[in-house]
Amino acid sequence: MKKKLTLAISEEVIEKSKRKASEMGLSLSRIVENALRFFADPEVYCFSCGFKFRIKEAEMCPKCGWYICPKCGACGCSLGEEGAKVAFYMRKTLMEIFNQA
Ligand SMILES: [Zn+2]
Ligand SMILES: [Zn+2]
Repeated sequence: MKKKLTLAISEEVIEKSKRKASEMGLSLSRIVENALRFFADPEVYCFSCGFKFRIKEAEMCPKCGWYICPKCGACGCSLGEEGAKVAFYMRKTLMEIFNQA
């Protein structure tokens, strides 16, 4: 079921987003819906085996603070220095999407 949602968003963001969405053949409603779905119940891919899992249902490694893949058991501890760096900045990018004021 679809429901109307009224949001107050910066005009610049709306204009830029509308332009990009129409270039991509997507609707803003769909983009917002996908972003909110991820926000409410994030699903991630294991960097080791590629299995998709919900953060909610995963255990966190007390050593590295990463979610442990329920399928292969990989967490940040199994990454080398280079891999850990890549993963850290990928995660930082994702976090900023939802934390920026
Ligand atoms: Zn895995
Ligand atoms: Zn770990």
